[in-house]
Amino acid sequence: MAQRFALIIDPVDAAQERADFAGTFTVVDAAAPALSVGELSTQRGDGVFESIGVIDAHAQEVGPHLERLANSARICDLPEPNLEQWRQAIAVAAAECPPGEWVIKLILSRGVEHGPAPTAWVTASPASDFSAARESGVKVVALDRGYSLDIAERAPWLLLGAKTLSYAVNMAALREARRRGADDALFLSGDGYVLEAPTASLILRFGDRFITPAPTGGILHGTTQLSVFEYLEGRDFEVGYAQIPASDLTRADAAWLVSSVRLAVAVVAVDAHPLPVDHDLTAAMNRYLLSPRD
Ligand code: PLP
Repeated sequence: MAQRFALIIDPVDAAQERADFAGTFTVVDAAAPALSVGELSTQRGDGVFESIGVIDAHAQEVGPHLERLANSARICDLPEPNLEQWRQAIAVAAAECPPGEWVIKLILSRGVEHGPAPTAWVTASPASDFSAARESGVKVVALDRGYSLDIAERAPWLLLGAKTLSYAVNMAALREARRRGADDALFLSGDGYVLEAPTASLILRFGDRFITPAPTGGILHGTTQLSVFEYLEGRDFEVGYAQIPASDLTRADAAWLVSSVRLAVAVVAVDAHPLPVDHDLTAAMNRYLLSPRD
């Protein structure tokens, strides 16, 4: 989807306190070139990002997204972002979003090769229409990611807990899923545990208990999963984190992929094995996710 609004941020030190960071943003023509050819984000995918859902000009869950941006930056040895500066940049971008569903992206790149500072920018664009997936669900295939569950501790240089710009593998997994006749993929660890989808977290239901893979195995801690757990707890369901063997997938009473822009979609089949679908609960989750949340 084409960007409609773009803002370049001049990153300032994380400790710097200011009431107004407006002087550190430059609005640029979103359709015109804005980055140097020396950018390490484009040459090496060396940087981190966030995608924030925007509903009727309200940016959702800004705090959790900023915390994850800071965590990704820490894992990648990037300078700590000034979260108040980013919060104000998001507010400027959100004010440019007309009613409906939009996406704000935050990008923090290592910057230009041999350059003095990181490059940072924010874009806003209309969200794709995900109503069909929200109503009908998605078929997924399980794909081996090849790493064991403890890889994040054993090999932190793989940056697995960070939301880095290097999403070529995630996109390849989605293409493989489509080649196999599915809509989405689900990564498994090399030792046979369920991880996450290439752009979403997984939630499984067993009776009145809802579980998600523990975000210690080199997966992202999803902001949407946290919101859905809050919603489910409010309805007196039990929620928790677990190490989930792949063999549990087909025993689940229901499953969802959840993410900031597509929101909650039911998993209707795993590797052609059908799963029960709770349309009412899926619709209720999405009503909650579409309501304004900070
Ligand atoms: N896991 C991966 C690999 C992702 O890329 C994403 C979102 O893009 C998620 C999980 C879900 O995160 P969130 O709910 O914060 O969008």
